[in-house]
Amino acid sequence: MKVIDHINQATEPLISFEILPPLKGKGIQSLYQHLDPLMEHKPAFINVTYHRSEHVFKKKADGTFEKVVIRKRPGTESICAAIMNKYNVDTVPHLICGGFNINETEDALINLNYLGIDNVLVLRGDAAKNEAGFEPEPGGHKYAIDLLNQVNNLNAGIYLEEGLKNSSKTKFCIGVAGYPEKHFEAPNMDSDLQYLKKKVDAGADYIVTQMFFDNSKYFSFVNSCREIGITVPIIPGLKPVYNIKQLTMLPKIFSIDLPTALSSEMMKCKTDAEVENVGAEWLLHQSKELKKAGVPVLHYYTLGKPNIVADVVSKL
Ligand code: FAD
Repeated sequence: MKVIDHINQATEPLISFEILPPLKGKGIQSLYQHLDPLMEHKPAFINVTYHRSEHVFKKKADGTFEKVVIRKRPGTESICAAIMNKYNVDTVPHLICGGFNINETEDALINLNYLGIDNVLVLRGDAAKNEAGFEPEPGGHKYAIDLLNQVNNLNAGIYLEEGLKNSSKTKFCIGVAGYPEKHFEAPNMDSDLQYLKKKVDAGADYIVTQMFFDNSKYFSFVNSCREIGITVPIIPGLKPVYNIKQLTMLPKIFSIDLPTALSSEMMKCKTDAEVENVGAEWLLHQSKELKKAGVPVLHYYTLGKPNIVADVVSKL
């Protein structure tokens, strides 16, 4: 079932989770162990992130270096199918521009369609580790909107091969990313919002936000979106803090602020277990306020800490 149909049929805010494919070599059981405590809370859908290949330089016996391509977390599409099969829940694979040319993208979409997956979250992806800025693959897409247009084409039965007769239409529901604190490359919020509006005007069914720790940033983002005519549901993305390193890592990696009240509580903590308690309490407070405000879905980034999220959801 499509995410947008879940939202339209719901009478109260839904719950959804984002998970990462396991590190290569870990096996699917580690993922099921992660998901088991979360599934009790009947999520409407589960998002599975996509992780592109990286280039690393490995030192050889003779002291020279060899460039090696590695992919740490493969398997997004098949994990989506496995989760649907095991838990009977809808899944949303993330699909990125980075590392794909348009033919590979089409193949990925055809595979998802064969697997019975009705949803995709369409993203550009970040720069590869060895690149200064995002570089599209030769013959690939530069922005998320270009990828979205390719999904639209398949939904209309238009494949890359010209003149394909009686081609079947896919029916993907399309989500896109939004940034309550601005995407780090955008020169200003207005420009970022205008490009977000273009994604919605091109056919995105809903927006999922980057994580934020200050609900007022989400509320003001939603207001700004509504003012420029973005009417689709805007799903807040939520994450618990659980270790002291996140005080500097989260702002650095995700270009977001931690509110003073949260950062000063974290700084008082002597152990990560204490930070976990602070994070859980903060997340519960955020979630309750958002739920009361009638958000369409509470979407939790569960990386590494499913139990904190499961506990918070059980208290809502
Ligand atoms: P876009 O919408 O293409 O925007 C990128 C930047 O370009 C923005 O600054 C925008 O303002 C600007 N822009 C957009 N269109 C144009 C244009 N036509 N001309 C000029 N500028 C333009 N990354 C992964 O690799 N895997 C994942 O699974 C993943 N999941 C994510 C889930 C969520 C909910 C979010 C919020 C992010 C996720 N990301 C993921 C990270 C995401 O790929 C990065 O934030 C990336 O840098 C931007 O992706 P986007 O889809 O927002 O890009």
